[in-house]
Amino acid sequence: MKIVLATSNKGKIEEFKKLMPNDDVCAFETLIGKIDIEETGTTFKENAVIKAKAVYDKIADEKVVVISDDSGISVPLFNNEPGVYSARYAGKDATDCANNEKLISKLNAHNVTTTKAFYTACIAMVYKNEVYTVHGWMYGRVIDKCIGSKGFGYDPMFIPDGFEQTLGELDSEVKKALSHRSRALKLAKKVLDVIL
Ligand code: IMP
Repeated sequence: MKIVLATSNKGKIEEFKKLMPNDDVCAFETLIGKIDIEETGTTFKENAVIKAKAVYDKIADEKVVVISDDSGISVPLFNNEPGVYSARYAGKDATDCANNEKLISKLNAHNVTTTKAFYTACIAMVYKNEVYTVHGWMYGRVIDKCIGSKGFGYDPMFIPDGFEQTLGELDSEVKKALSHRSRALKLAKKVLDVIL
């Protein structure tokens, strides 16, 4: 069964491919080129479903499963900002670096060097026009600087619970074992085992 990822995010594509080494996984753009999908939802689940359905409708092939991931980081001290707006925290098409800087300036404005944070991933799957969703979380804290170059997004400023280094520094195997995405994908695989 072909699995089509409904994302253009290179970091996510790389992680999904590593998490599903035995599956036939490809990014949707390799099949149908770029499409503009407006993420109008206010929850990870709504946006994950919007993305998966948009790609499924374009591909229109009952023999594929489309998988999307809507994810982000939430900081309770800032009313769970940036949450679903993680990718565009510093503005439309913001770079990871600009988003990190915005979060760091929020920490500075609150006179804290670190505070609790968590990542959420909602994975939506569409197969034969049916939609299935699962969630995964990773807990830890953010710090007021970026350290390391591994991972993507907010990883250089996120320290998972039980560790002293950021995901930018830790081996990618650590993230693979702990991440919101891998936890959600574990559940997604159970769903796929049943429906395929
Ligand atoms: P989405 O593509 O709209 O789901 O936005 C995801 C955004 O959340 C990314 O661009 C990152 O800013 C952030 N994010 C999600 N997952 C991760 C992760 O595993 N590491 C770091 N940042 C992440």
